[in-house]
Amino acid sequence: MSRFLNREYKELIPYTPGEQPKVKGRLVKLNTNENPYPPAPGVSSVINEKQLQDLKLYSDPEASILTEAIAENFGLEKSQVITANGSDEILAFIFMAFRGETNKIYYPEISYSFYPVYCDVFGAQGVKIPLREDFSVSPEDYYDADGTIVITNPNAPTGMALEINQIEDILSHNRENLVVIDEAYVDFGAQSAVKLIDKYDNLLVVQTFSKSRSLAGARIGYALGNKELITDLNTIKFSFNPYNLDRLAILAGTEAMKDKEYFDTTRNKIIKTREDFVKSLENMGFSVLPSNANFVFAESREISGEEYFTKLRERNIIVRYFNKDKISNFVRITIGTPEEMDMLLEATKEIMGK
Ligand code: PMP
Repeated sequence: MSRFLNREYKELIPYTPGEQPKVKGRLVKLNTNENPYPPAPGVSSVINEKQLQDLKLYSDPEASILTEAIAENFGLEKSQVITANGSDEILAFIFMAFRGETNKIYYPEISYSFYPVYCDVFGAQGVKIPLREDFSVSPEDYYDADGTIVITNPNAPTGMALEINQIEDILSHNRENLVVIDEAYVDFGAQSAVKLIDKYDNLLVVQTFSKSRSLAGARIGYALGNKELITDLNTIKFSFNPYNLDRLAILAGTEAMKDKEYFDTTRNKIIKTREDFVKSLENMGFSVLPSNANFVFAESREISGEEYFTKLRERNIIVRYFNKDKISNFVRITIGTPEEMDMLLEATKEIMGK
């Protein structure tokens, strides 16, 4: 640490991203919930020599073509959409903009581990609400909160989803609080809260191109909500980094959003692979939380989460392990191709001596 760092950041513990191995080689990478399938076919044809030459020019700060494609996809007005450099940046804008009178942000105790980091960096008070015994989120625990509420649906790393009526329950009991639903994984089997946007002016839905649209490396996220909320987020964005999406990301995202057929085909493949994989893992004695995401959270009585993680890593298979209270016996496994899941199952058989 240098002597120049601001006093308030001296204790800051940054977010720890999952391992991004430099040499991919023989690795089976199931640790950061990326999509195993390539981006929609149209993406490679829009990024041509001319587009590369055009990189000499700044990008469109409003990312108009992308924003329009997103609005059209969801049947919303363009003024109800804002894009950013990954949904992480959208979340950062939200934590900057909406801390309200109390400066409190409520979120589930076990959830996306970036939320506490954003609280620390923006000086908010994070309020962690425990999950139920079965790892589900209890909507009643969020009734009449005195601050902003952030819920991941489906939750991460559990994969468990709330029903749309449960989300509405939280919204209707918090008319004076902003409720943010982080839907990074919603396309793999959960119900989106987007249809509630016109009914609740206290709702912001956050989504990403990183998972169901195979563009994690392009860094595109967006928020959907009523016009006033989006205007506020634009005020933050234009005060921070107006050209936050690069020219290639805008083109790639637009193509990916328009190709609904490819989107449906790939997400349905992943859902099917997940269902098959869960059955096989359960047959080997693992308990798997009910997942509506492109990953599963699993534990075994016969092997600790840490040992299973380590032994898979020795076999060039990377999953995610969180050495944290209540979840330290679990590993989170991204759903890859059927072949990748078979490799993981083979390795598991070997590890468990079955
Ligand atoms: N929300 C959740 C719940 C996530 O797991 C992730 C991915 N790590 C993100 C948001 C951020 O994704 P991205 O910045 O790639 O859009």
